[in-house]
Amino acid sequence: MEKGDQMKIKNVNIIGHNYSIEYVNNPAEVDIYKRESLWGQIDYWTKTIRVYDNGRTLEDIYETVLHEIIEGLKQELNLQSLKDNHDDLTLLAIGLSDTLIRNNIVQLKESENDNRDCTSKD
Ligand SMILES: [Zn+2]
Repeated sequence: MEKGDQMKIKNVNIIGHNYSIEYVNNPAEVDIYKRESLWGQIDYWTKTIRVYDNGRTLEDIYETVLHEIIEGLKQELNLQSLKDNHDDLTLLAIGLSDTLIRNNIVQLKESENDNRDCTSKD
């Protein structure tokens, strides 16, 4: 297991739906259909999220995970304004991830006696 792996979220429940999160090192493997290279992808049918890893910083990876979570919320809640504007969704993910990390609401730094599977505070 690589350093930092325990800080990566493996599952996320998006308003009642469980998604498993997989981290891949080849950008072509992010796309479930292997058609294009992506940073992240959520698939509503298989309830899976794939995130490009390949040694990116935990902050970058967390931002991609949040982006895909917001994509999931957009789908589940039928958020029309985000459906029509992917740039807004991207900016929302950047701003939210920065706020959560900057205020230590989410901690990505490893501590000695921390072996939790999840990056959220209790
Ligand atoms: Zn997106």
